[in-house]
Amino acid sequence: MYLDSDSHKPSGGNETMSRATGWERLRQRLRAELGEDVFSSWFARMELERMNDHLAVVSVPTRFLKSWIETHYVDRLMGLVASELGASGGFVVEVRTVNRDQPRAAVVPVPPVQTATARPQPALAPQPTVLADHLGSPLDRRLSFASFVVGRSNALAFASAERIAALVGSPSPYNPLYLHAGVGLGKTHLVQAVAQEAIRLGKKVAYFTADKFMYGFVSALKAQTALTFKEQLRGIDLLVIDDAQFIQGRQVQLEFGHTINALIDAGKQVVVAADRLPSELESLDERVRSRLAGGLVVEIGTLDEELRLKILTARLNALGAVHPSFQISAEVATYVAHAIATNGRDLDGAANRLLAHSTLSGTALTVETAEIAIRDLVRLREPRRVRIEDIQKLVAARYNVSRADILSERRTAAVVKPRQIAMYLSKSLTLRSLPEIGRRFGGRDHTTVLHAVRKIEKALGDDRTLSDEVELLKRMLMD
Ligand code: ADP
Ligand code: MG
Repeated sequence: MYLDSDSHKPSGGNETMSRATGWERLRQRLRAELGEDVFSSWFARMELERMNDHLAVVSVPTRFLKSWIETHYVDRLMGLVASELGASGGFVVEVRTVNRDQPRAAVVPVPPVQTATARPQPALAPQPTVLADHLGSPLDRRLSFASFVVGRSNALAFASAERIAALVGSPSPYNPLYLHAGVGLGKTHLVQAVAQEAIRLGKKVAYFTADKFMYGFVSALKAQTALTFKEQLRGIDLLVIDDAQFIQGRQVQLEFGHTINALIDAGKQVVVAADRLPSELESLDERVRSRLAGGLVVEIGTLDEELRLKILTARLNALGAVHPSFQISAEVATYVAHAIATNGRDLDGAANRLLAHSTLSGTALTVETAEIAIRDLVRLREPRRVRIEDIQKLVAARYNVSRADILSERRTAAVVKPRQIAMYLSKSLTLRSLPEIGRRFGGRDHTTVLHAVRKIEKALGDDRTLSDEVELLKRMLMD
């Protein structure tokens, strides 16, 4: 077995070999268990990037695939990476950039899409200053309150984060603070800002990305220093956990639960960021979820165009401070903020591409040349751009009802079923949050959406016809 050969510490070459065969076995088992169709839809382009004894890092070409795999195949993959690769701490899915293997023409490195393990450097300043006077994962000095641009969609999150940072050390009415939002909307920026402000105020801080927390705990267990790890954690004033949706594994999630309970009960501040609501953290125990839901839960909404323009302008100014010849007209900036409708991370990427193109061409960018500069960014994002409206239209047509019926209050079976399917598809195929989906379905509550999603998920397991139908709808929407 692979696990045995690994514990004999084979030489690098053998290890690479057994990893490769382990990976091949994993793929074959997936294919056998899921069938050729499902396998080729979701896993054909998945690659093993790197791994250690605890964690396997796999990559896929699009964020959509990443989020799909994370929502639908976590358990299956966890089992397989443990049995075939010997990675006991599970796995992390990264998105690889399109041009990864080609030499880069850019003057500035184009940042890879951010993942749980590798954080690309945002373009606030040329070099990050990493802070190390705390426990856990590194902090990036540029991610401060001062550099955070406030707009309608993040004002509440910002205000809560600032307030809590100032209160660390004294009893806080907002404990835990739970921030949730889709990818690239500023969660990491805000929670790192809280951590850094607390450090500045002389507090003891632990900042962990979920994978670091899992890794830290699992390796402490192996080295039989788990107690020290826990004691260290309990001696702090503020615990920040980023990307909590990745916390998984029975023992780790139990420990996570104990840790936050102990801290909150002792009046220490806990701040958690995740890409979904506490109730949707399926890999966590129900009690942990409700503890997380019991504090202050704040969503960061999608960035409107005005806010995007402000964030982009701040980035461009930071780049301009380092590259004085780099000038972008207001017209070009406005165009880019309009075209990159996704999130702050893509705005970072766009700013870097604008810099690369203008440096390479040696001339000022026009809207036309800017469009070329950011074209691949826009295209890269397209696979996940299924629109809720299109889902509603397609599902309505398929079930012979109108879109208005789907949005209406009517509760007849003929309308309820397509409505639930459309909600399920919206959750599966877009990165919209449950509250957002609820709003788009005639102003329903997020719990209604969650109920629909769970109901359809369950039905899919029991009802072959329904699952074929839903699979077909998915394909139609994604083509
Ligand atoms: P998340 O953790 O939610 O995926 P990040 O915090 O990593 O997102 O944000 C992605 C990028 O966008 C970062 O470079 C971050 O600094 C930037 N960003 C997001 N929102 C804002 C904002 N309101 N002001 C300034 N920068 C922002
Ligand atoms: Mg983040």
